[in-house]
Amino acid sequence: MLVKTLDDLLAEDVSGRGVLVRSDLNVPLDDDGAITDPGRIIASVPTLKALSDAGAKVVVTAHLGRPKGGPDPKFSLKPVAAALSDELGRHVQLAGDVVGSDALARSEGLTDGDTLLLENIRFDPRETSKDDAERLALAKALVELVGDDGAFVSDGFGVVHRKQASVYDVATLLPHYAGTLVAAEVKVLEQLTSSTERPYAVVLGGSKVSDKLAVIEQLAQKADSLLIGGGMCFTFLASQGVSVGKSLVQPEMIETCAKLLDTYADVIHLPVDIVVADEFKADSPPETVTADRIPEDKMGLDIGPGSVKRFTTLLSNAKTIFWNGPMGVFEFPAFAAGTKGVAEAIVAATEKGAFSVVGGGDSAAAVRALDLPDDGFSHISTGGGASLEYLEGKTLPGLEVLES
Ligand code: ADP
Ligand code: MG
Repeated sequence: MLVKTLDDLLAEDVSGRGVLVRSDLNVPLDDDGAITDPGRIIASVPTLKALSDAGAKVVVTAHLGRPKGGPDPKFSLKPVAAALSDELGRHVQLAGDVVGSDALARSEGLTDGDTLLLENIRFDPRETSKDDAERLALAKALVELVGDDGAFVSDGFGVVHRKQASVYDVATLLPHYAGTLVAAEVKVLEQLTSSTERPYAVVLGGSKVSDKLAVIEQLAQKADSLLIGGGMCFTFLASQGVSVGKSLVQPEMIETCAKLLDTYADVIHLPVDIVVADEFKADSPPETVTADRIPEDKMGLDIGPGSVKRFTTLLSNAKTIFWNGPMGVFEFPAFAAGTKGVAEAIVAATEKGAFSVVGGGDSAAAVRALDLPDDGFSHISTGGGASLEYLEGKTLPGLEVLES
């Protein structure tokens, strides 16, 4: 990627200069509003710390959840500001609005090295507007907070596939730089797509085939083996004429899956056994059956031990591995063994020198929830949708705009 990076910006003197940073601080919250996984906050710290250390006046913009077109206290960045202060080791102020009078007053009051977090950017409906002029107007208001000699650092990798005001339009108005997180994520994805060492194994799971069809089609062409588990494996099994009981199936995708299996017969591997249960419940008693013997009244909630063994063999000699999507409903301990087993096989291959990348929000959450070592993988991506779209070969607006 031919873009200027944070190092280029730091090489200029940023002391006293306003720098707008788009970070991805979209962390999961529990019912009481407490952060359950601070991964994205932690990943955002290096860029913010470097700018603050260099004496910049740092204005951070980010989103949280999907507020419906206006301020909603449920989606306030308040808990994020507190957690970010802890991680940065210095106070982060939170503006009471996005680009309103409080944000403006606070940005004018910043002294060198200070950090100001703006309220949830999606409280302003112009952020995600399809109307170019509306987005540009919000981008201009953001630019006002850092002044005419300001700079923009794009560090929210999880949103670079979105053409939004704080991701795309601001970069058209200010000198722009890729932050350390965006630069690191892109480097890993470039390595996956251009200098792929073989054998290349891809593990795909998660809930729906339709979410991942484009990436399945792309990666089936590139990979030496494509291992499919999770909810999506049942549409593939159904396409082979196997009865899948009450398992998650997308009937409209059956024909597409049959074609994929036909075209990539040597590449695609399906589970040989399945852990089934009566209901989608944590305490529904599990039972393992062969993949072609799923009873009519049961649903598949995980891949079985025979499948884990087979997938482990296929992963053991891989030199490059990409994993997206849990193998089962890992949130229920009785149905987490498939995900854990496959993840352990990836960790083992990584220890033997494979380059392994985990993409996908739920997959990254599974790594942490199942107590797998974070450093057991070469890279855990912070952006599910963004990394999938990159691997599909799509142009990501938030990256493309940094190139010009
Ligand atoms: P990621 O965020 O890693 O891309 P997805 O969002 O596609 O992954 O899917 C994750 C979800 O898929 C998890 O919440 C998991 O419970 C669910 N899932 C996995 N296997 C099954 C299954 N057999 N039936 C229903 N849901 C499943
Ligand atoms: Mg997900």
